[in-house]
Amino acid sequence: MPAPTDPALRQEIIDACREMNALGINQGTSGNISARCAGGSLITPSGIPYEEMTPDQIVFVDGAGGYYGDWLPSTEWRMHHDIYGAHPEAGAVVHTHATYCTALSCLREGIPPFHYMIGVGGGTDIRCADYATFGTQELSAHMLAALRGRTACLLANHGMICFAPTLKKAMWLAVEVETLARQYWLARQAGTPVLLDDAEMTRVLARFKTYGKQVGELGVGDAEAVIPPVRRTGAIPSTAK
Ligand code: 13P
Ligand code: ZN
Repeated sequence: MPAPTDPALRQEIIDACREMNALGINQGTSGNISARCAGGSLITPSGIPYEEMTPDQIVFVDGAGGYYGDWLPSTEWRMHHDIYGAHPEAGAVVHTHATYCTALSCLREGIPPFHYMIGVGGGTDIRCADYATFGTQELSAHMLAALRGRTACLLANHGMICFAPTLKKAMWLAVEVETLARQYWLARQAGTPVLLDDAEMTRVLARFKTYGKQVGELGVGDAEAVIPPVRRTGAIPSTAK
């Protein structure tokens, strides 16, 4: 577990913030990012433009919710702190005001299983948490309820939040959730999307347990894994040219 003073982790958080704006899944000083470290977590300071942010401005929040140093932690430190408390597997949290997630959240709607990739959030849908004012404990409580059995949710009239074991994976998930929100939004403009039923989503979720694993990583219990083709040994034959 990295120490709260770890310069590499502090820089990684800043790089991720710049990346989320460059990727178009956030804008301005909206959003915030944190990573778990020894004794608590490191989180972005409140209201500082990501281009100007320096590693010493990243704030250490301890396990009891106290902060250290001269910079105020993100106004949403409670959501981050509560995710680390409720989800031991969380190593990093990404909160963004991604456009399509936010648009859907203003309708107070989550994302239903219109596409099998909805399984990336750990369940059969991505819920929308009830509304509460930004930066409040009430918002964090609504978020925790929407995250039950999930790794991502929308926040009503606000945006989205997600977590993963690593910052890289949390960033990947944030992009995936915004992509799903955009696809769902577009499908809704064109008609009524056909939703996948519970039986199909059960199959999808079983397969997701092994998705992304490579040769040697599949275990005995991975019966629902996507079956690969027959593996040939030796070099690719010259007749294949
Ligand atoms: P901070 O700059 O305090 O992190 O606030 C941004 C935000 O997204 C609040 O919900
Ligand atoms: Zn926000």
